Amino acid sequence: RADGGDRCRFYDPASDLDPTPSDQGLIAEIRGGLEQGRFNMRYQPIVALSSRQVVGYEALMRWRHPVRGEVPPTEFIAAAEKSGLIHALGDFALIQSCLDAATWPPALQVSVNMSVVELLESDAPRRIMAALAGAEMAPHRLRIEITETARIPDLGRLRTAIDEIRTLGVTVALDDFGTGHSSLTHLQSLSFDCLKIDHRFVQDLATPRTASMIRMLVAYARQIGVMVVAEGVETEAQATQLAQMGCTHAQGWLFGRPMLATELPGWQLAS
Ligand code: C2E
Ligand code: CA
Ligand code: CA
Ligand code: CA
Repeated sequence: RADGGDRCRFYDPASDLDPTPSDQGLIAEIRGGLEQGRFNMRYQPIVALSSRQVVGYEALMRWRHPVRGEVPPTEFIAAAEKSGLIHALGDFALIQSCLDAATWPPALQVSVNMSVVELLESDAPRRIMAALAGAEMAPHRLRIEITETARIPDLGRLRTAIDEIRTLGVTVALDDFGTGHSSLTHLQSLSFDCLKIDHRFVQDLATPRTASMIRMLVAYARQIGVMVVAEGVETEAQATQLAQMGCTHAQGWLFGRPMLATELPGWQLAS
């Protein structure tokens, strides 16, 4: 870090969120993409492990880039967070996901990702309420997945935002559990309805230590009344092992890839 000194031991939002020169170009391109309607959502099924029935879909954003083709969010969310654009992208994700989910059978939920930056910098509860109202969708059908991309600067404000969202009747999930920043402390000190176990752990299930940790987490989550979804399940062996560990829900290529709204099962055409 260029600024150095003892300040770097503490969270410094300005330095974390300052766009680099290469971000600047990307930010301009994202702005253009938004103006041209080049962003869309894909939906990946979340299933109950016991029945394999779909209980909902996670909304995942894509950028249809004129040259690069379909660009995944890992390549543009961080840059968008460093500019105000994350709020425009976030609003698009929320509004489009609610409009699409409103056409699904009412038993199905939609999970929308929101970064902590988005949650802390904007009036997230109000935006969520507006998206629900616009789609005339019941709040309990929406789940917000919170992803930490940086250390949380203000746990108190995050707690307030989560509590306000839950007061609306919307459920909240802690995403990417087990990675860098998503810690046991947050699971313990914030109110979540759902915990998503990161795909890196699922991919490492064959390692006894990893398996023990997931088993422990699933038991803890069950005790505090939090639903567990395992992410990135690619094989039957993983699904079986997770079910044996008491994990109730899962998501991954084994059950379905992220699909366009028009590629979802035919039920939206029926009735
Ligand atoms: P995530 O929330 O952890 O989403 C799961 C990622 O795992 C998705 O990547 C999905 O395509 C991928 N995946 C699903 N099944 C499998 C599998 O079986 N194996 C493997 N290896 N991967 C699988 P994707 O779509 O590239 O999204 C990456 C991240 O970008 C998401 O991670 C989420 O944190 C973020 N993101 C996506 N959409 C949005 C959005 O609308 N807003 C915000 N703020 N972040 C978003
Ligand atoms: Ca997610
Ligand atoms: Ca995740
Ligand atoms: Ca993630």
